[in-house]
Amino acid sequence: MRYVAVFCGSRNGASDVYIEGAMRLGKELASRKMTLVYGGSSLGVMGAVADSVLEAGGQVIGVMPKFLDSKERSHQNLSELIIVDSMHERKAKMADLAEGFITLPGGPGTMEEFFEIFTWGQLGLHQKPLGILNINHYYDPLVALFHHMTDEQFMDEKFRSMALVDTEPSGLLDQFVSFKPIDVRTYLTEDRT
Ligand code: AMP
Repeated sequence: MRYVAVFCGSRNGASDVYIEGAMRLGKELASRKMTLVYGGSSLGVMGAVADSVLEAGGQVIGVMPKFLDSKERSHQNLSELIIVDSMHERKAKMADLAEGFITLPGGPGTMEEFFEIFTWGQLGLHQKPLGILNINHYYDPLVALFHHMTDEQFMDEKFRSMALVDTEPSGLLDQFVSFKPIDVRTYLTEDRT
């Protein structure tokens, strides 16, 4: 696996653990010669993961919509910065380039990006690994919600298991490397009759 997309917050979060965790991921990506694909910002967790890959000698591709260029302050030292016309194009470009997707702590924008890739996997539109780097157990409530979804029969367990979860970058990337795509014939259950 060469290209890994990372979805993450444009803020730092309440504690240094989030930035530190993002930097550990950046180092791990660079040491595995994996190119980071991300939203292109210099801010928050986004900026931290990009900086740490670059500091470790790795490659970073940013994908930034024109209208956000100044607001999200594009990182000026990336290996490549791709400017696109819209949020939709940004996500499509990142999805095309990446061979796997990691979600770090973030806010609503991060969740939107995660859920699009998760649900596209559920529909069988891609067969790439996707995972949550659960720094500081930030995503425990989301993982609990996934269990609630399967308990209440709104999601199959096989789809829940598609979202790989780990607290450490090395553990999550090891899971990516050994990931076997699931067979998606339908994401729907049998009808009620
Ligand atoms: P946040 O997690 O809210 O800090 O946002 C993280 C990243 O997600 C930022 O780069 C945002 O530009 C991006 N983002 C925010 N809203 C959306 C959206 N509706 N669709 C796609 N990306 C978004």
